[in-house]
Amino acid sequence: MDNTIVRDLFLAFVRVHILHHAAKEPIFGLEMIDELRRHGYAMSPGTLYPIFHALENTGLLSAEQKVVNGKMRKYYQATSKGRRMLLEAKKKIGELVVEVLED
Ligand SMILES: [Zn+2]
Repeated sequence: MDNTIVRDLFLAFVRVHILHHAAKEPIFGLEMIDELRRHGYAMSPGTLYPIFHALENTGLLSAEQKVVNGKMRKYYQATSKGRRMLLEAKKKIGELVVEVLED
């Protein structure tokens, strides 16, 4: 079985999760790792951070450094482009869910 296809599929779900949360409030890496674990995705920082960076480079997320308890933390928030993308994804997810979960 081709594991890269399975991995790509779940990584797409992870990207949608990130966009969804980053559209609600600024999020940071470790917090998102916990959130994804709650949903059954075991992500290491080494896997998650490149996804954040890719979303930032594509202009879907913007990043801001903040000092929290003496530590530098990078917060990500959805840009207007990211929000538009999320809206589009939501429509497609809605259709997909109706069809896939129908039977
Ligand atoms: Zn979530």
